[in-house]
Amino acid sequence: AFDTLMIGGGPAGAAAAIYAARKGISTGLAAERFGGQVADTLGIENFISVSKTEGPKLVTAMEEHVKDYDVDIMNLQRAVKLTPAENEGGLHEVTFESGATLKSKTLVLATGARWREINVPGESEYRNKGVAYCPHCDGPLFKGKHVAVIGGGNSGVEAAIDLAGIVGHVTLIEFMGEMRADAVLQEKLESLPNVDILLSAQTTEITGDGSRVNGLTYKDRNTDETHHVELEGVFVQIGLVPNTEWLKGSPVEMSAHGEIITDDKGMTSVPGIFAAGDVTTVPYKQIVIAMGEGANAALGAFDFIIRN
Ligand code: FAD
Repeated sequence: AFDTLMIGGGPAGAAAAIYAARKGISTGLAAERFGGQVADTLGIENFISVSKTEGPKLVTAMEEHVKDYDVDIMNLQRAVKLTPAENEGGLHEVTFESGATLKSKTLVLATGARWREINVPGESEYRNKGVAYCPHCDGPLFKGKHVAVIGGGNSGVEAAIDLAGIVGHVTLIEFMGEMRADAVLQEKLESLPNVDILLSAQTTEITGDGSRVNGLTYKDRNTDETHHVELEGVFVQIGLVPNTEWLKGSPVEMSAHGEIITDDKGMTSVPGIFAAGDVTTVPYKQIVIAMGEGANAALGAFDFIIRN
């Protein structure tokens, strides 16, 4: 059995593994795919102290750093079930899709999240070629350009307000007849001169010239008419889904959105089980934040071990 086992190999799991291993405790890391969302990212310009890097490069650097330490890395392992220890200080068990099981005194759940996709033609073809999901990450790439934000919930409206300060023009596209975002956000959005809002608009296609996005087609749900808007970028903001399906039925407490709730030391409602990164209720989902949270959870786990 391990002293501590990370489930997930994104920035949170990798940081947790390094912090744990540096305490000299036996450390494992099991991940469906080492690198997580970073592996799907092109340019990264907000990883402090590195002006500019690319996702796959950062993943390689993360992996090399983890391998500097005595960490048992088990890649391509998808966790499907968590069985918590029967008594405090006992062993937790994680079952994997392969049928294998691993036991550990403490766990750091760092299975991250995924952006919900709209599943229209053009979305996957032009991903990272004009189709984006993270305004904090990719907003500056569209400086002065015309972009659309799909989704009128809080994240969509926040993204549109944020982008309006950077890009030339923002078109917000909402499927329903009204936006669901908080009233104060809607008022702020409506006050901006370079934003227009389309309600009852169903995106049907993201168009491109073969190499980059050049527009978006939507159906007006009131008239059934089809329209096309020319633009250079599309931010899809219809939700970020935490990868916690495998924890259903476990006693780990989660929010209404399925995000894991933790205390200041990263511990969940189950003693000895910690969580970090995008899978938790942490409000902002970013690489530097996930790494910090991973370090915090590993130190929390170490603290738990020396007291039990
Ligand atoms: P993740 O990176 O999601 O990693 C989760 C890990 O858990 C993976 O290893 C995954 O395989 C594994 N996993 C999931 N389910 C299971 C399971 N059941 N069993 C075992 N393993 C499992 N942030 C920035 O700061 N700057 C940027 O420029 C930036 N650009 C982005 C661009 C894109 C396209 C995307 C998608 C995200 C971007 N982000 C950016 C956000 C950033 O990538 C995330 O905040 C960060 O990766 C979260 O780290 P994490 O370790 O919590 O989760």
